Order: sequence, then C-alpha cells, then structure tokens
Amino acid sequence: MNKLFTLLSLAFVLMTLTACTSVAQTAALPTPSTQPRTIQDPILLRGWSRLNSLTDPVQLWDGRTPSGHELAQYVLEHDIPIIWNTQNVCGGNACSKQYCQGDVCSHQTDGLPGIEPIYIRTNLSDPSKEEENLNELVSVLAHEIYHYSEPYGPLKDTLYEEYNAYYVSAQVSRQIWTNFEGYNPLQPACLIKWFSDTHLLDGYQNQGLKTYPANMVPTVDTSSTTCQPNGSNIEQANLTKSPTCTLNPDGNVSCQFPPAPTPAPEYQVKCEKDANGLVGCETIWLKDVGASARSSAYPNRQVPPTQAGRSTHRGWGYCTSGRCPGR
Ligand SMILES: [Zn+2]
Repeated sequence: MNKLFTLLSLAFVLMTLTACTSVAQTAALPTPSTQPRTIQDPILLRGWSRLNSLTDPVQLWDGRTPSGHELAQYVLEHDIPIIWNTQNVCGGNACSKQYCQGDVCSHQTDGLPGIEPIYIRTNLSDPSKEEENLNELVSVLAHEIYHYSEPYGPLKDTLYEEYNAYYVSAQVSRQIWTNFEGYNPLQPACLIKWFSDTHLLDGYQNQGLKTYPANMVPTVDTSSTTCQPNGSNIEQANLTKSPTCTLNPDGNVSCQFPPAPTPAPEYQVKCEKDANGLVGCETIWLKDVGASARSSAYPNRQVPPTQAGRSTHRGWGYCTSGRCPGR
C-alpha cells in the first residue's frame, strides 16, 4: 500500500518536472487515476472518498498502523469493484467471497477472469439517508477492505483478523459501537472475551473460524491465560468473568467460561466515562419483560450520569445484585 503511494507520488513528481519543459510530453504520460473506476455508484464513491481522506494511522496491538487512506488506495491499486449487495450474497451482509485451495485463500479471484467484488449491505443505499449513513458506510468499507487486503497473508479469516477489522473500522470512522479498551487481542482470553462480550462469539465459531492465523501464533502472549485488561477501571463484580484460555499449536484457543451468574441475569449494563469524567449507563435487556413491567419494575432504564469520580463502572457486565447502576 505504501509502495503504491510512493509510486504515485513519483509519477506525479515526474509529470510535474516534465510539465516544466514540454506540455506535449506531459500529455503523453499516463495520468494517475485519483478515483477508482471500479466504483460506479455515487454513494459508494462518496464513502470511498471520505475513507481516502482519513490519513490518521490506527495503532494495532501487533504493531501495524493502517489508515483509512491506505485502505482506500488498496482499492485503487487492485481495481476492486465495490457494489451494493443486491444479490444477497452472505445473507445480505457486507462481505467479499474468499476462495481457498488447501490453506491458501484469495478474496481477489475464484480462478475465473475478473476480480471479485466487495459487497456492501443495501440498507446503506437510501439516497435520502446518505448524510446520516456516511460514517457507517466508511466503517463498513474499512472493515471489508481490511479483510480483502489480506493483512496476515492469503489465509482463511480468523477471529484475530475479525477483531482487527472491527477495531480499524471503528477507529477510522469514529463509529465506536463497543468498548475495545484493554482487550489485547494478542492475549487469547481477551480476544475470546471481547467476542463473548459483544455477542459475536457464537456466530463466528459456528462459521468455523480459527482463533489466530498460523503466522501470528509466535506473537501470542501465552503467559496470560485469563483476561486482565491493563489500566482499565473495570469493576470486576459487575462484569462477565474472564474465561481461562490456552493456545493450541494449530492456532486455535480452548477456553473455559465460569458458570453463568445465579440468578440468571435479566439485563446487562454498559457504562462509559465521558471526557468530563461523568459515567453514563445503558441497560440492555436479555429477555422480554414487556414494556409496562419494564417501566414499573425498572424505571431507570437510562441511568443519568453519576457524579465525577463516584463510580468506576466501565464496560459490559451482568447485573444481578443491588449494586447495579439504576437499581
Ligand atoms: Zn469481518
């Protein structure tokens, strides 16, 4: 990706130098394309342009520093078509197909002529909501292009790759829909706990995703078997407990979750501290208790911010005791 950018810059410098001496020679040089010819739809093109303008690097735990700009340039470099998912591929979600022969996989080709597209879910295609949906579109584009760029080589998708795709897309688009803080994905229990806490674990495990790509296994922190996020004010009493995990030689992780809380929780709370140090909480219902029961038995569904410094609640947790926010 960097290489392409350098080549384009060099081409530009050459063109500029040539322009000083001869207009005719400049016209003979190929003009570097600044927009992908492989995106026809104006809304998708606008999403790509926004992504292309985001140059801040995202710091990943494994040392990589991708940016929105680099991901957008990858689309240009590889002529990747980006289209609405009107064909209902992958259940209508955003995705690209991945073709594997043995352990070697490609997003780019199924062996036939032509480059495989990235499909974007059509609920973002409404022109009357273009402005409102733009950040989410940027997030989805970043996530899918990250996969397509095969950051860990031509290998099958893994939980580790998914975590980084979610993290990169959330950071570049500022669409922070969940808490990433302290979940070091190079610690197996933290990687698994993040997927468990976001309710994504079962879906991906049912698709048969391995935990780590083989070439990342040497960098995994096997000294830590449980998830203890660094520097985070997580109040353990109110959180899902950490699983205990061990890394297998094939890159898969085996985890044991502690038993579910008793009595069975009725809701989860998500609390976050804002820039002023105020803590706000939101309640997520785990069963349908009905609107009237909800309002009478649990009037504080939205908990107002507490006073600064009074609470250290942060993150997701089951709430079963009188110490729960909002009770
Ligand atoms: Zn993904």
